[in-house]
Amino acid sequence: GDNKNLFDVKYKVLLLGDTLVGKTSLQRFIAGKDFRTDIGATIGVDFINKIIPIEQSKINLQIWDTAGQRNFRTIGRGYYASTKAFVLVYDVTNMESFRLIEHFSQLIEKAGLDLERRYLVANKIDLIEDRKVDEELGQRFALRNSMAYFETSCKTGENIQDFFEQIASDLVRHN
Ligand code: GDP
Repeated sequence: GDNKNLFDVKYKVLLLGDTLVGKTSLQRFIAGKDFRTDIGATIGVDFINKIIPIEQSKINLQIWDTAGQRNFRTIGRGYYASTKAFVLVYDVTNMESFRLIEHFSQLIEKAGLDLERRYLVANKIDLIEDRKVDEELGQRFALRNSMAYFETSCKTGENIQDFFEQIASDLVRHN
């Protein structure tokens, strides 16, 4: 079809984070698919398109999953080069996944991409009893690294729509 009728501008958004933190689930939620507990770790890199209306424009967020790769060499330059927003995702029940955020943050800086927008997502906040990384720890990291901080749940859907709308509106304003 004629893509011109579907959206006005397209931005690439890259999800980074350890395996099993919920990157695929975030994509599934935003694509309107049901929450599933039986999805295994995804292989390779894949994306979904989400069109978000901002003011008079239709913004197409092309949301890429990196399937847990821990360096850009395995992801490939083509995947991150034109990225406008990096979303660093961790699982609040898994301290190691939070520690890895520092690593991903450094990767972005080393690749000279530190001027692109970055977001910190604390996922699985529905698992209150098992929570290991509290809100203060996440907030502090985000503040220190000039990132916006969001707490989400792919199970309840909490904050996910708001989060992607925020990205779309930030990108429209700054690009
Ligand atoms: P990925 O490897 O980062 O893509 O992680 P997945 O999206 O495959 O999720 C890994 C597992 O965590 C799956 O069993 C999901 O159902 C589960 N999961 C993802 N997000 C949430 C969440 O917000 N809450 C709960 N309770 N489980 C989640």
